[in-house]
Amino acid sequence: MILRMSQLFVRTLRDDPNDAEVPSHRLLVRAGYIRRNAPGIYTWLPLGLKVLRRIEDIIREEMNAIGAQEMLFPALLPKAPYEATNRWTEYGDGIFRLQDRKGDDYLLGPTHEEMFTLVVKDLYSSYKDLPLSIYQIQTKYRDEARPRAGILRGREFIMKDSYSFDIDDAGLERSYQAHREAYIRIFDRLGFEYVIVKATSGAMGGSGSEEFLAKAEVGEDTYVRCTHCDYAANVEAVAVRPPAALAYDDVPAAHAEETPDTPTIDTLVALLNEKYPRGDRPWAAGDTLKNVLLVLKHPDGSREPLAIGLPGDREVDQKRLEGQLEPIEVDAMTEAELTAHSALVKGYIGPDALGEKSASGIRYLVDPRVVEGTRWVTGANLSGQHVIDLVAGRDFTPDGTIEAADVRDGDDCPNCTEGTLESARGIEMGHIFQLGRKYADALDLKVLDENGKLVTVTMGSYGVGPSRAVAAIAENTLDEIGLCWPREVSPADVHIVAAGKDPAIFEAAAQLADDLSAQGIDVIYDDRTGKVSPGVKFKDAELIGVPTIVTVGRGLADGTVDIKDRRTGDKTEVAVGDAAARLVETVRGRRHHSPG
Ligand code: ATP
Ligand code: MG
Repeated sequence: MILRMSQLFVRTLRDDPNDAEVPSHRLLVRAGYIRRNAPGIYTWLPLGLKVLRRIEDIIREEMNAIGAQEMLFPALLPKAPYEATNRWTEYGDGIFRLQDRKGDDYLLGPTHEEMFTLVVKDLYSSYKDLPLSIYQIQTKYRDEARPRAGILRGREFIMKDSYSFDIDDAGLERSYQAHREAYIRIFDRLGFEYVIVKATSGAMGGSGSEEFLAKAEVGEDTYVRCTHCDYAANVEAVAVRPPAALAYDDVPAAHAEETPDTPTIDTLVALLNEKYPRGDRPWAAGDTLKNVLLVLKHPDGSREPLAIGLPGDREVDQKRLEGQLEPIEVDAMTEAELTAHSALVKGYIGPDALGEKSASGIRYLVDPRVVEGTRWVTGANLSGQHVIDLVAGRDFTPDGTIEAADVRDGDDCPNCTEGTLESARGIEMGHIFQLGRKYADALDLKVLDENGKLVTVTMGSYGVGPSRAVAAIAENTLDEIGLCWPREVSPADVHIVAAGKDPAIFEAAAQLADDLSAQGIDVIYDDRTGKVSPGVKFKDAELIGVPTIVTVGRGLADGTVDIKDRRTGDKTEVAVGDAAARLVETVRGRRHHSPG
């Protein structure tokens, strides 16, 4: 295949688009890969579509290799299945809903667990039919709150979603591992750096799940890794290892003390050290128990207050909290909502006034570090007073625990006793779930087992985003001068620049393009004449980011052309006659599959 720049439907741009937040977005627009239509809604131009299709093909090959079968659902879906699983409500504002001319409700599919479950129920009835893995590569719709960074978080985007169906847990485990290995092969082939981390299951329900994250500073996900063991988790999924309970026989009875003008933890700690010094060491922020009032926004719109108690040296991490509560969202408590709870003394709220059985009736959950026997300084629920030596389990009993405190570099690893955690950012590229029986239960997917007994099928769901991958790979590989594609996903294998005016240059370049194309190599050939200078052509080639750039120019007089590696910038001079063979070798050497 030869794409001639004189005809290719592309316009490279010198200026960055106004709305571009991240480098990959800027470059994909400037290099002529995508165009924006509305927030989170993009058109794929020819170059962009080529990259997208190559990614889809890699995914397809690896899914087929584990015996998964491709099919295709509509994007326009009826409401009933999503009502049966309650996701019509749970998705809240997150989905696009519409009505037909008769007033019947529809949605644009955000993900298809329901539809896959139903089609299996429709056609299969026996354990002999299982295991089964089916998938599609299809357009999804989500009314994302913050569509951002171009195609990285679209409102219309492409997803490969597959689903496994098994008769028992051991079968699900096998299907999950097969998908996990296929994903590893996919991401290895895509050619960028990624990590596999433990994840929360969110709105999907179910038990175990892992995410594949592309390493990227612009990523919206934060993950941690242990400095010692192989533990890696999305911060949302980090479960703090609670310390052992402490004996508190020697701890004096709790006592309320005057602590005027201590609106912050810092001022409180300073006052404690001045007026109520400890014998063993100075007071620190971590000795205080901070009670944070929040509101849970349920998908049906209702608001429920929630109090979270955590050590004063930690903050509530909203994303982490929402990760535990999904589909519920979290809001700050408004002034009016706070005043409505007359039992609460603002600024001095203490455990006494919190809990389902307290005067306020507000559910009170604490950080897992607040174990029995720990002593705290906290609000006395009296204006200007804090209580000292308040012991968890003796003086107060929360309604439960919750993982809401921020996770920090240097925190203890939850998995081993030697390591600490280090954080980094990433982009979620894929997510694999052991769903279990949630959807099969809700939609009544049962088959007959060996004994002729009806049993509920157990499922897995496995998603990866080819459109997001285009941006994430771009982000992971670009440099100061432009895009820089890994060979397997590049829109072409070789970019030939005819640099000069001499017709012999164009003849030789065209000949090289033909030779390569005849051998199955995809070529972009910059055959533009007239006012397009060699400088402009080089800049465009660098911006577009094909891994090998060939210049047919001045050297031709001596019988040579230049081959440049886009990533390293390394140049080699090659005899014209050897160029095609050399390029075929370069391209094939690093490509896992043959073209076509
Ligand atoms: P995120 O946390 O980034 O919103 P998600 O948890 O909602 O992702 P899943 O529902 O697991 O994502 O979807 C599976 C895959 O689909 C993701 O791993 C990602 O690659 C892709 N994906 C999800 N939402 C989007 C989006 N808005 N735009 C592009 N790709 C997306
Ligand atoms: Mg999402």
